[in-house]
Amino acid sequence: MNPSAPHPHRRRLTRAEVRRRRRSRAIRRVAGLTVMLCVAAGGVSFLLTRRAVVPSASAASAISMPAQSIADSTVSSAENTTAPANALGLTADEARAILADPLMVLVNHTSKMPDDYTFDTKECGSATAVNKTLQTVACDAFLSMQKAAAADGVTVWMQSGYRSVKYQTSLYERKTKYYLDKGYDNATAKEKAAAVVNPPGYSEHNCGLAADLNSPEHTTLDTGFADTAAFRWLCENAEQYGFILRYPKEAESVTGITYEPWHWRYVGPENAALLNQSGLCLEDAVAVLQRIAAGETVTG
Ligand SMILES: [Zn+2]
Repeated sequence: MNPSAPHPHRRRLTRAEVRRRRRSRAIRRVAGLTVMLCVAAGGVSFLLTRRAVVPSASAASAISMPAQSIADSTVSSAENTTAPANALGLTADEARAILADPLMVLVNHTSKMPDDYTFDTKECGSATAVNKTLQTVACDAFLSMQKAAAADGVTVWMQSGYRSVKYQTSLYERKTKYYLDKGYDNATAKEKAAAVVNPPGYSEHNCGLAADLNSPEHTTLDTGFADTAAFRWLCENAEQYGFILRYPKEAESVTGITYEPWHWRYVGPENAALLNQSGLCLEDAVAVLQRIAAGETVTG
């Protein structure tokens, strides 16, 4: 083998060939860079557009994604690379104080409202509202929010607010009777009723902090509300008045409630900002707060 030709298939390039290759390499680099910049710019503008045009989507996804990661972390904390404690950025004392805040009460199908949870109520419902009141603090916040929305040309109505445990009892019993009349035994009838109507004390509306909102352009409480100017306005502004979107689409598996764009929950402006910034739904936020409060290092 000829030692002067270690790569027998290669030959020295002529100067012209070297220039040509350099030029085509430079062109490829510029083209590659352009593609990367386009992709990056596209991504940024996509995100900006999502925020600007569909604030609900960005708010909802911001809430859902970390919520999902928290849920995952409970399954396999070893694999969890997110840092929920950093997301909330709180000390154990701060976490305990937030958990002790009555405005942060967690009421859902597994967490009953405490029997000693008492409050004053005040009326802020629309003319067609079924339950016209909310806790006074939430009611005042809603009225301020409604006024601000009106100043922006947007009408927001409170369609259903505080439901007393007594009222919830009558709803639940009526539904249970419906299934008993269909021939189900008592336990099954109650179970079936609970799937449709929360048992007394297990509806967030019982604590006076949940408000079903609608607007003249969409008076029914369904997902169509998500397409209204009122909903878009709420996604942009509700936080500063202390309200959060309680059942975002992406948090369905955690909340156990299907997407409800009309159901807003008052937690106070500071808590609302904390929750929205963390991206956690209330269930996950309370779980993380409890871990921090217990002195656990919530880093996964
Ligand atoms: Zn509701």
